[in-house]
Amino acid sequence: MTDETRFDVVVIGGGSAGIAAAIGAAQAGASVCLVEKYGFLGGAATTSSVLALCGFFDQNKNQVVAGVGQQVLDQLRTRDIYQTQTVPETGNTIVLLDLETTKSVYDDLITAAGVRLLLHSQLISATTVAGQIIAVDVVHRGGVETITGRAFVDCSGDGALIDACGAGAIVSAPSERQASTLVMRVGAVSEDADLSMAGMTRAVDVYRPRSEMAMVRSSGIAVRMPLSREVMLLIADDHGDALDVVDLTAAEVQSRRLSWQYLAAFQESLAGWKNSFLASTGPQLGVRETRRLRGHQAVTAEDVADAHKNSSDAIARGGWPMEDHVTVGTTEYGGIADKGWYHVPYGAICSDTVENLWAGGRLTSSDNRAYASLRVMGTSFATGHACGIAAAVYAATGRHDYSRTRTLLDVQGALI
Ligand SMILES: Cc1cc2nc3c(=O)[nH]c(=O)nc-3n(C[C@H](O)[C@H](O)[C@H](O)COP(=O)(O)OP(=O)(O)OC[C@H]3O[C@@H](n4cnc5c(N)ncnc54)[C@H](O)[C@@H]3O)c2cc1C
Repeated sequence: MTDETRFDVVVIGGGSAGIAAAIGAAQAGASVCLVEKYGFLGGAATTSSVLALCGFFDQNKNQVVAGVGQQVLDQLRTRDIYQTQTVPETGNTIVLLDLETTKSVYDDLITAAGVRLLLHSQLISATTVAGQIIAVDVVHRGGVETITGRAFVDCSGDGALIDACGAGAIVSAPSERQASTLVMRVGAVSEDADLSMAGMTRAVDVYRPRSEMAMVRSSGIAVRMPLSREVMLLIADDHGDALDVVDLTAAEVQSRRLSWQYLAAFQESLAGWKNSFLASTGPQLGVRETRRLRGHQAVTAEDVADAHKNSSDAIARGGWPMEDHVTVGTTEYGGIADKGWYHVPYGAICSDTVENLWAGGRLTSSDNRAYASLRVMGTSFATGHACGIAAAVYAATGRHDYSRTRTLLDVQGALI
């Protein structure tokens, strides 16, 4: 058991949003507990090898996320690994990550902020009284432990706390959710190898008649990673219900099988892949969409497309265009006006049913299409940061205070 069980702010989930929430709250003066079910931080970046940060820059290459997110970029610079890549056709700029460096950066930032970190600890239930959460139960190797708090932030990606406390949620039908992808890290792909979609398509077309299973996608995204020089390959997709453990189990097994088929196709006829090997998948399938918060407000596709701005209630900027993986092999895009950015309002991170609950990252309240923009990790740092500060303000004062939250976001260097 832990030696502390009472906190001002309790954050569930240690991905981009949860890290930012915990650090933001701690820097606002709150005592903070961060609960993460894996043995390391990073969320999809480290659990599913999603090793490219999207959303830090808009399509004009202007930076739109700073604050705690900037601390991450600064750490990458300090370790001499900060590397961006811009796709010329779209203007989309990503920040490339190395897996182990990412874990280490997050460990250091959370430790330096004085956050009480519980790894290997999974939220399983919550207790509410009069519309407020008073405690959560987490299970770890020591058993079940109750942690009390004044304010709670769900950054679990899947809305574990939203679900546990019965807060309003938005859950689309499984077929309307985005497809999942088992990200492959492939080693020994030669430096001059063909990473093009056209090359992949040719190789898959040749191999497909002999494949043990349907290879619906003909090509994917292949990005060369810094340090390891592995290729991050997004091609093995699944479109089951990630909230259904039977579907999810099948998806893990099937997409792993599928990844070997794509590897075989590329080894056979894609230039530079002959000696390649599957270095890693997982630890888990990359799940893009499950449930999210029903907030006082929801960001809409129109807000994103029109680059809607409202300084009177804004807590973050979103600068990544809508990228909707509607089904296996089909991605629909939707731009932001003038390739700029839109504001995320305070109402999109606070629950419409539970007064002391905030949710950030891919739980931010939105419609389906806006979700395709909001969900990326850069934007998740920004919305998570705002959740942490709003929760810290609530813990100190017992009320929602946008004005104070905004002031502290400014003090902590957020771009709004
Ligand atoms: C295949 C794929 C490719 C993607 N590509 C990109 C990309 O290139 N760039 C980009 O920026 N974004 C990308 N995304 C989107 C992005 O990765 C996620 O939307 C983003 O990670 C959301 O951040 P988050 O902090 O909200 O959630 P997550 O990163 O999902 O983190 C949630 C954390 O909560 C923890 N957790 C969950 N349940 C519990 C519980 N009950 N108790 C305790 N802890 C819990 C999880 O272990 C996890 O660490 C991709 C997503 C997928 C799936």
